[in-house]
Amino acid sequence: MKLSQLKLTTPYRELDSIFFDEVEPTPLKNPFLISASKDAAKLLGVDEDITKDENLVDIVNGTYKLEGSDTFAMCYAGHQFGHFVYRLGDGRAINLGKVNGQNLQLKGSGLTLYSRMGDGRAVLRSSIREYLMSEAMHGLGISTSRALALIGSETDVARQEREKGAIVLRLSPTWVRFGTFEYFNFRGDHDKVQKLADYVIDESFPHLKDEEGMYVKMYEEIVKNTATTIASWQSVGFNHGVMNTDNMSIDGRTIDYGPFAFLDDYESGYVCNHTDVDGRYSFKNQPGIAHWNLQKLAVALSSIVNHDRALKILEETFGSTYEKEYLSIMYKKMGIYERDEKDIELFKWMLGSLESATIDYTLFFRTLSHYDGDKKSILEMAVFQTPLSEWLDAYDERLKKESFSDKERHIQMLSVNPKYILKNHILQEAIEKAQEHDFTMIEELLVVALAPFDEHKELERLCKLAPIESKNIKLSCSS
Ligand code: AMP
Ligand code: MG
Repeated sequence: MKLSQLKLTTPYRELDSIFFDEVEPTPLKNPFLISASKDAAKLLGVDEDITKDENLVDIVNGTYKLEGSDTFAMCYAGHQFGHFVYRLGDGRAINLGKVNGQNLQLKGSGLTLYSRMGDGRAVLRSSIREYLMSEAMHGLGISTSRALALIGSETDVARQEREKGAIVLRLSPTWVRFGTFEYFNFRGDHDKVQKLADYVIDESFPHLKDEEGMYVKMYEEIVKNTATTIASWQSVGFNHGVMNTDNMSIDGRTIDYGPFAFLDDYESGYVCNHTDVDGRYSFKNQPGIAHWNLQKLAVALSSIVNHDRALKILEETFGSTYEKEYLSIMYKKMGIYERDEKDIELFKWMLGSLESATIDYTLFFRTLSHYDGDKKSILEMAVFQTPLSEWLDAYDERLKKESFSDKERHIQMLSVNPKYILKNHILQEAIEKAQEHDFTMIEELLVVALAPFDEHKELERLCKLAPIESKNIKLSCSS
């Protein structure tokens, strides 16, 4: 099957017209292919090389219409930095339709009814970041939207400086957001809330269809999925940066990659988003913010799910799911497989020592995955060695209680502690090259993004540490 042969359906358009804006993409000037993910293409049932598809660029640019495609932008509201905004919507994203359980969406494809003050465009810089990061999160085993292809163009886009427009064709099993429910609830359109819930059950939770209490169960699953995704973010050191309710996917997956970052040195209070002056979306706040967002969702669903019931589910489910998932990953990252009640102390102690040691989070775990009792390899990465050295003494003692051999433990740990994560300084290097029309680094990064636990000897420079001046820097939201 070729990409251009796909036949799409548009079930979202069967909802009332208030749910969307019928809009055509506005093509970019002189578009060209920058990269395509063959791995993401498999999700659509496409087995032929998409880069050889003569219509790929036109599909992404919106000038070649796939059969059955009927384009539209989705309407939603959202709490942005804690404040409710009644109408947001896809201001620069246009949906093409759905195939194989994946909704195809162009990001950066021009104005829609919901563009407000924006220009409907996405610049090359932010599109490269979204494209690579979607694939990287998937490679790390984290629930996320995917990216099929990225095109560049000669269309000028005004930001702080003049930049070039780009489009990412992204995929997700759903593009419904917490804010989609908030929009209809705020209007008092309770029949639309129910209609949307029925749609969401069909699309994301089909096993709940026609079950008694299916809306309550839907909410419970959303709580669980969200807690699980946030646990995986915290374990890998990912800071999303803009956890507004309009950026929260209804099935809990990671969406809308903006000023995100991975931690360089472990710093729990790190805030990647330059505009987030109060640190609302700091790394350590992410679980609490997800909980807050789920409270807002409970309000939005209150016409179909008893509010007290929803809050009870939230209190009973979120924290316990989050903690179970997070600790389960973290113990694996530490190479601890047999439970000991004191492990939680050892774990907290580790985080405290990482924070005071000033040490790269990812490299620490990757190096710990080779640890054989010789502390030097770990201590030499830290600016302050004493806290880690003391922790390693306790860790040595703890490892004696494990039945795995060092070698077995190393193999297990290397499969959960990535060697390659897309650090901002590396992404920045790829962006600067791409701005000079050299896209080789994007291809290289795609390779490591999709297989981050492998060694890739020939690409080792892609896991180099951030230079001191760009460690844990803040990123601008303008994209
Ligand atoms: P974000 O925080 O990037 O997810 O964006 C918040 C809202 O602003 C969403 O409704 C976006 O569609 C919209 N938006 C962001 N950038 C633009 C743009 N350049 N043109 C139109 N709408 C935009
Ligand atoms: Mg968004």
